[in-house]
Amino acid sequence: MEFSSGRGRLKQAWLAGDRRDLYPHSLQFYLEPPTENISLVEFESFAIDRLKLLKVVENLGVSYVRNSDSYKTKLEFELRKLKFPYKALAEDDYEARRKDHISHFILRLAYCQSEDLRRWFLQQEMDLLRYRFNEVTDNLRQKFLEHVNLSFEAVGLADAVDLFRARRVFIKDGFAYVPFKEIDVIVLSNYRTKLSKALALTARSLPSIQSDERLQPLLNHLSHSYIGPDYSVQKNTGKISLEQIDTLSVKSFPLCMRQLHKALRDNHHLRHGGRMQYGLFLKGIGLTLEQALEFWKKEFIRGKVDADKFDKGYAYSIRHSYGKEGRRTDYTPYSCMKIIMSNPPSQGDYHGCPFRHSDPELLKQKLQSYKIPPSGITQILELVKGMHYQLACQKYFELTHDVDNLGFSLNHPNQYFTESQRLLSGGRELKKELSNSGNSQQKSNSQESMNSNSTPTSSNTTADAELEGLEAYFTED
Ligand code: SF4
Repeated sequence: MEFSSGRGRLKQAWLAGDRRDLYPHSLQFYLEPPTENISLVEFESFAIDRLKLLKVVENLGVSYVRNSDSYKTKLEFELRKLKFPYKALAEDDYEARRKDHISHFILRLAYCQSEDLRRWFLQQEMDLLRYRFNEVTDNLRQKFLEHVNLSFEAVGLADAVDLFRARRVFIKDGFAYVPFKEIDVIVLSNYRTKLSKALALTARSLPSIQSDERLQPLLNHLSHSYIGPDYSVQKNTGKISLEQIDTLSVKSFPLCMRQLHKALRDNHHLRHGGRMQYGLFLKGIGLTLEQALEFWKKEFIRGKVDADKFDKGYAYSIRHSYGKEGRRTDYTPYSCMKIIMSNPPSQGDYHGCPFRHSDPELLKQKLQSYKIPPSGITQILELVKGMHYQLACQKYFELTHDVDNLGFSLNHPNQYFTESQRLLSGGRELKKELSNSGNSQQKSNSQESMNSNSTPTSSNTTADAELEGLEAYFTED
């Protein structure tokens, strides 16, 4: 059984000018890249919507049985909301199909860049196709298979190996005879092979993409992407006192920040990766510049750094991160995706995401020391094993806050903090405790709808350069 490459069909249809011929089915194997020109605005919005969709696919896949009614209802709701094809009807949903096609290829570019990214993307795309394929009628399914030249009368043994293992296939003379209702296994197995190869091939052509200065920052932002508020608007500025931080770190910090806080208290020092991650998080929860200077100085001078050295070196970098030095760029706290995907910690570092970067045995011990019940630890470790790091973190939130269902999808350490505070205070915002001296701070850059890391987003290229500049100030260990 073979898929035809079908190369050229899309282009011919495009040239012939009949848009219905471009996408005769709601289902696609994405064998041919789009050939039309699109604006950068559309490029970005398609990509963000598909990313939102794949995140929902990931969340639902962990929270519900894949074929259950709840799973299907919620996924269909999301597909409708984001205007992706949600069932393969004969109706002309050209725009949705076009969006489906183009957005898949954009994310393919963004997510081919590392083994982790490829694996995540492949898994979500497989789940999405499985859902869609199972939703269509037998008749449409058959038409789709014909369309992609997939003969389903008999398949080679390699394609049916999953069915063979489960004793759901009749084998004769080296051919596997598969009931039509099981055909999805064959289709998915074949799709997996095709998509893995395509991702590997795309990764090989990365150098030419990386030379495109408009595209590369966009793709990088997508692969580290976080969808939601950027937590740079410091509406809580001045509402937290330094004395509260120890307590808050236990009650309301996600594990990554709790770990950094403890390391700072224990060692009176953090290396630059930790200072960046934790410093911006603290800024995001509302520490004013003055408080940040006091907080870091007090701790560092208890260690090997004297006050003079702190004032000359570290203080500058803190002011810089608050937009008070250099180009006066205001920096936003890191999202989970950025923490998980970039700058992995080395020996002596405490930054990163413990669910992603800790040895499972160490993570287990840490969770035990935080009094997480054994059954909860097992669930967390299972999620970690399946590489669902943010979902593991959500589970940690549920267990430490004694709630059954989070009711939100976790994407950002500052979101974790805000939600925790909202819950612990019975829905009320943090009480104002200090003078609001930091509120006069102005951001030097405007906001955009999507922000994926600690850079302001009005200009990705400038922002990346700025970030490098900032990180350079932090390189002193
Ligand atoms: Fe921190 Fe996000 Fe990892 Fe949770 S998932 S520990 S918030 S980086």
